[in-house]
Amino acid sequence: MTGEPAHEGRGATSASAAARQSALKNRATFDLSTSGTPPRCRLVGGESSYDTDPSMIEQSQPPPRAPGSPRPSSGPYSGFRLIREGFRGQRGWTRAWAKPDPRPRYRVLIVGGGGHGLATAFYLAREFGIRDVAVLERGPIGLGNVGRNTTIIRSNYFQPANVRFYEFSLKLWEGLEQTLNFNAMVSQRGTLNLYHSEAQRDLFTRRANTMRLEGIDAESLTREEVKRRVPLVDLDNGRYPVLGGYLQPRGGTVRHDAVAWGYARAASEAGVDIIEHCEVIGIRREGGRVAGVVTTRGPIDAETVCLAVAGHSSRLAALAGLTLPLESHVLQAFVSESVKPMLDVVVTYGAGHFYASQSDKGGLVFGGAIDGYNSYGQRGALPMAEEVAAAAITLMPGLARLKVVRQWGGVMAMTMDGSPIISRPPLAGLIRHGGWCYGGFKAIPAGGMTTAHLIARGVPHPLAAHLNLERFATGHTVDERGAGPFPYAH
Ligand SMILES: Cc1cc2nc3c(=O)[nH]c(=O)nc-3n(C[C@H](O)[C@H](O)[C@H](O)COP(=O)(O)OP(=O)(O)OC[C@H]3O[C@@H](n4cnc5c(N)ncnc54)[C@H](O)[C@@H]3O)c2cc1C
Repeated sequence: MTGEPAHEGRGATSASAAARQSALKNRATFDLSTSGTPPRCRLVGGESSYDTDPSMIEQSQPPPRAPGSPRPSSGPYSGFRLIREGFRGQRGWTRAWAKPDPRPRYRVLIVGGGGHGLATAFYLAREFGIRDVAVLERGPIGLGNVGRNTTIIRSNYFQPANVRFYEFSLKLWEGLEQTLNFNAMVSQRGTLNLYHSEAQRDLFTRRANTMRLEGIDAESLTREEVKRRVPLVDLDNGRYPVLGGYLQPRGGTVRHDAVAWGYARAASEAGVDIIEHCEVIGIRREGGRVAGVVTTRGPIDAETVCLAVAGHSSRLAALAGLTLPLESHVLQAFVSESVKPMLDVVVTYGAGHFYASQSDKGGLVFGGAIDGYNSYGQRGALPMAEEVAAAAITLMPGLARLKVVRQWGGVMAMTMDGSPIISRPPLAGLIRHGGWCYGGFKAIPAGGMTTAHLIARGVPHPLAAHLNLERFATGHTVDERGAGPFPYAH
């Protein structure tokens, strides 16, 4: 994709000659690197290409945009367009989302350009008509947990309020590609949870029944049915024989980067400013309320500041003078070399924290538990790698011959009860969103929609009302696993 967004209004018409030369140089350099045909340069926002004539570039600058007004679309993404661009040298693609400089003031600032921050911005603009919004991201978007997770979506929770919230998310996932006009590779291949004891079977049966009472799909599988579905599983493994499983057929996986890109593109077109490489380093308070932020690109004022910074939640809350009931821990993931199709469902081990799926490229994707110590480092340690490998080989001995080719870590905000927080903390103008623990990817559409509702309407969305911050003071915790107030245990 090429081209600086001409509609950003910082055009050469008002710039000095030197700035104009610099802008031209940047444009030309970009296009050289992408097209490989030096004399050509593409007219951004249009469909034609032309030689690099400075006066033509100057003429291409439209007047400045009104804050929050929708941007010209980067065009529909479709099979037909792919074919058409194939015939015309791929010259018709424009940048998927704009790269504006920050303005001095916005109605809403969202700190964190992960899945939740971008989704919140998108739904604010699309569902609630609030477009004077900026997303501030300290790096490029997609490099946080939204691009580091193991891509699993499901709604097989136990507590009824959680079941409804995650089912809402799953329903949004089911229509997301149409909503965003972006191929996010939503694959409802099913999620299968295995059980290994009678007690665990009872627990899982209750969970499946809770889901069914909410009208959600859940199927009980016998040992034989598990074997038919996942031939790789060693049912009679010496350590924890498999007694059966329960399946949510509508669970599955989604291409994680595409989720960030799709929401960014749609939010940008709706008028949201996505400002990358802009770290928030301070939160400004005035008259007992939040008045804006201080960033590495200068101060920005806002009526409302929403923190959606995942594993960095406690650091950002501290900037506002708040302490949150959560800790940051590292969670790792692993990918094997590509192999032929061998696993067409997401399978979860019940005798340890281990799960696996096969990506569309053929690599097996594994995950385990958090590393268990507090950290902001985006990399894991070897003991968890060993634990995941042991669980993998116990459950599916055939995996012993696979080579792991990549491993990485992400920083997780783990709350005291294992459930997230979408709430107004006791500081006017601030919205707190985070504490997603292991499960924030699947929650992105619902998290974004319900946070946008809280910002726009000033009251919690009914499906997220139980995720308030006060629950930790009143004792109404949402402890899905019954593990108690220990962040590392959820
Ligand atoms: C290895 C791994 C596997 C996982 N697997 C799954 C799974 O299978 N299913 C599932 O549902 N969930 C999974 N998760 C959890 C899920 O990825 C997260 O809960 C979710 O992505 C967090 O929300 P986010 O996308 O908004 O976070 P992020 O993408 O991390 O977004 C937060 C952003 O805030 C930015 N930021 C931080 N500080 C600042 C600052 N001061 N100024 C500006 N920006 C800042 C960061 O750079 C980051 O981009 C997994 C996580 C990991 C690490």
